[in-house]
Amino acid sequence: MAATARAAAAASSLAASSVGADCTGCRQQRTLPTFTGFRVSKHKAQASPQKLQRPSVKVRAAMDDKKAGSKRDIKAEASAVELSSAVAADVKNGARSEESIKDVARNKAAHDVKEVFRAKYVPFTPGVATTEEYSLDEVLYRSKNGSLLDVQHDMEALKKYDGQYWKNLFDSRIGRTEWPYGSGVWSKKEWILPEIDNDDIVSMFEGNSNLFWAERFGKETLGMSDLWVKQCGNSHTGSFKDLGMTVLVSQVNRMIKKGRAVRAVGCASTGDTSAALSAYCAAAGIPAIVFLPADKISIAQLVQPIANGALVLSIDTDFDGCMRLIREVTAELPIYLANSLNSLRLEGQKTAAIEICQQFNWVVPDWVIVPGGNLGNIYAFYKGFQMCKDLGVIDRMPRLVCAQAANANPLYRAYKAGWDKFAPIKAAPTFASAIQIGDPVSIDRAIYALTNSDGIVEEATEEELMDAAAQADRTGMFNCPHTGVALAALIKLRNKGVIGPNDRTVVVSTAHGLKFTQSKVAYHSNEIADVTSRFANPPVTVPENFGKVMDVLRRELDKRGDKIK
Ligand SMILES: *Cc1c(COP(=O)(O)O)cnc(C)c1O
Repeated sequence: MAATARAAAAASSLAASSVGADCTGCRQQRTLPTFTGFRVSKHKAQASPQKLQRPSVKVRAAMDDKKAGSKRDIKAEASAVELSSAVAADVKNGARSEESIKDVARNKAAHDVKEVFRAKYVPFTPGVATTEEYSLDEVLYRSKNGSLLDVQHDMEALKKYDGQYWKNLFDSRIGRTEWPYGSGVWSKKEWILPEIDNDDIVSMFEGNSNLFWAERFGKETLGMSDLWVKQCGNSHTGSFKDLGMTVLVSQVNRMIKKGRAVRAVGCASTGDTSAALSAYCAAAGIPAIVFLPADKISIAQLVQPIANGALVLSIDTDFDGCMRLIREVTAELPIYLANSLNSLRLEGQKTAAIEICQQFNWVVPDWVIVPGGNLGNIYAFYKGFQMCKDLGVIDRMPRLVCAQAANANPLYRAYKAGWDKFAPIKAAPTFASAIQIGDPVSIDRAIYALTNSDGIVEEATEEELMDAAAQADRTGMFNCPHTGVALAALIKLRNKGVIGPNDRTVVVSTAHGLKFTQSKVAYHSNEIADVTSRFANPPVTVPENFGKVMDVLRRELDKRGDKIK
């Protein structure tokens, strides 16, 4: 009921606390030296190559031997064996032929002046005063009364530095390989998990995904001049879930090192969460367990955790069923729960919003459209923009749009009903399978985010989302169905005149299209019931015959030739 009232009260308290972000008086204290960059000393840089060459010389010798004839193959094999045992000995002794980027970071951190930034868990109950708070080192997902948790930063400490300081710091870290700041997420470390040791971080240098300028799609389809797609799916496991998972797995890694009883990390998943969890756990050497709804995720998504060595349980239910089960299991076993109920992930995901501002030279776009299912990400975007605003990095909020599949639209229904009547639904199948969720865990977070950003919820039918993805693909993108949902929402809002022709608009692409080739193939083969594939482009089958090939080319080039003069 009171979601709207709570949200409004919280908004005004947030606004009140954001005054006075700049403070010229503290300039002298600004000793954080972290953005001066760091170079490996010449001495070390020169010493290392010789050591590195040793194995490669052997490999070359082995290969030369191989070329010299079959008689020498035994020798080649022997060399190879010798090489691998040499490597094995190095691994066993922990030998490194030069300082790793982690060593460099460790040495540097030892000499850094430490500014004390802190973060903690508080209950997510906007507008309701509470003294309840917890250390991030606790294994905890909900507050005493069962509400979600939120990671709250010490904003007063952060506000000792003005907006320009943060912009300079973050800009200085882009495009480097300095541990851990080469990651788009950890380049914002002070705003994410300020207290974690760099050594405990598990990162694949995720984030820093490109903004695609949708020039042709904007101009030709929508009459828009300033349309962009944030390619969050151009990432290690092919979805934005990497942004959150690096934070969660890093924190778990820290807790395990501190002796917490965590035997594995588990999640229920519509596909992308399990892929990200499995990869990060594999990189850290932590066991991963994933509960997947049988036959409801793409083959690419299924094979990812399998390849990364996770324990994969394929369960004959939907996502909501898997979620219920894993909650029961984690209450019994020391398995850390990695679902987006877990507020650590949202800290990483919010960096995509900060990055968008950064990519526009710290100017806020007018609209940001995010496809939503469990609804953690829409709140993460809100949180990222809000933090930028509170810390003087941007001067206003963008308007947020959450886009849902019409087959899984509980948020859309609540929006249409004036926010007060949220009711979970049974989600019907959708090609946007990662958002086939009827009972979103972050519903309160999403309502809060949207009511505080003058937000909108839009929906897309299966035909609308597949057509939108395919139409945009024709202009050079390769969209997943979820991005199709966001693009379809954009088309509708543009057609209604809600989004203007010159509004700077960012569509968030949440996954890589290559994860969803099955539905794309079905679309282009015109094989989807109740969907007229308006932009289908099936391959033309031609016999091996020059005349027939020429016929096809003449016919097809005439059809497509409007751009070729
Ligand atoms: C997880 C996911 C979403 C939905 O994010 P929520 O935080 O659950 O709303 C959208 N698209 C893709 C590709 C996803 O993997």
